[in-house]
Amino acid sequence: MKINLISDTVTKPTKGMLAAMMNAEVGDDVFKADPTINQLQEKAAQMFGTEDALFFPSGTMANQTAIKLHTQPGDKMFCDKWAHVFNFEGGGAAFNSGVSSHLIDGERGMFTAEQLAYAASGGIDIHSPYSRLVCIENTTNKGGGACWDFEELKKIKQICLDNELALHLDGARLFNALVAKNETPKQYGELFDTISICLSKGLGAPVGSILLGTKSDMAKALRIRKLFGGAMRQAGYLAAAAIYALDNHVERLTEDHRRAKTIGKTLESCSFIKTVEPIETNIVIFYVNDSIDEIEFVNKMTQKNIHFISMGDGKLRMVTHLDFTEEMLDKLISELHKF
Ligand SMILES: *Cc1c(COP(=O)(O)O)cnc(C)c1O
Repeated sequence: MKINLISDTVTKPTKGMLAAMMNAEVGDDVFKADPTINQLQEKAAQMFGTEDALFFPSGTMANQTAIKLHTQPGDKMFCDKWAHVFNFEGGGAAFNSGVSSHLIDGERGMFTAEQLAYAASGGIDIHSPYSRLVCIENTTNKGGGACWDFEELKKIKQICLDNELALHLDGARLFNALVAKNETPKQYGELFDTISICLSKGLGAPVGSILLGTKSDMAKALRIRKLFGGAMRQAGYLAAAAIYALDNHVERLTEDHRRAKTIGKTLESCSFIKTVEPIETNIVIFYVNDSIDEIEFVNKMTQKNIHFISMGDGKLRMVTHLDFTEEMLDKLISELHKF
């Protein structure tokens, strides 16, 4: 039995999802003639209460499109120092949009409205880049699946309004946050100018992301997606997986969260573990004692067919997901106790 906790992207389509894909009605989406993609986009926009939505091949492309549509070359954006848009998208903000990143020194990937207000103060000056955009990440990836406080996000929105800044949400794992904090998609749709959602993470679809926003922003996004080479043809087979995921795989995220917490408790009870970071959703970040080499620990567990990753600086990460079962959890617990 292979236990793969490397990421929640490792899931394979379920039988139900595959059946939905096989039965999808498709057409050429470049001509807006794929009924399943149209259905997905309408469904997502309705869920979030936004005017429009656009299907993307990846979360990176959805984020990069959002950055491009809110900015001009030479502008800058604000994000946390751990943000995916800065750290894990290949320098795309600079490459695709000519945008620099003003990094805010937050906690677990989250900054405060006060920190943003301070960073955005200074007004317009011919010497400085124009500040155009704020990017939020919920849940935070490098921050170990931490969830933002919605009240803080409202304050951040006010600062954006005061400073004429657009507000983008990298919501790759937003559904994890919604389920964990009992929040609704519409709350987020109201607050943010654009939102990207990954269907290929906790929701278990093989491919796909969605960008949400106004009709005029999504018209710009359509043009940028074309420019980035992301226009697809009969991708309704993938949209069918996404619709299935939205209908069947949202509420069950609580299972992933419960299992992540159980892993955390087990790790805390192991003498060779130094610390476990707070677990709010499906990501477990922990450190082994200084006397143990963390790479060796990862390799020894790999030999037992238990896979997870080192994120550098002694940080280890396990991510629970749709294909991580109760049986696998029991096996993992017993192997950790034996170690
Ligand atoms: C996974 C992820 C993305 C998008 O990644 P893709 O692999 O391009 O789909 C964006 N932001 C965060 C926080 C992520 O975890």
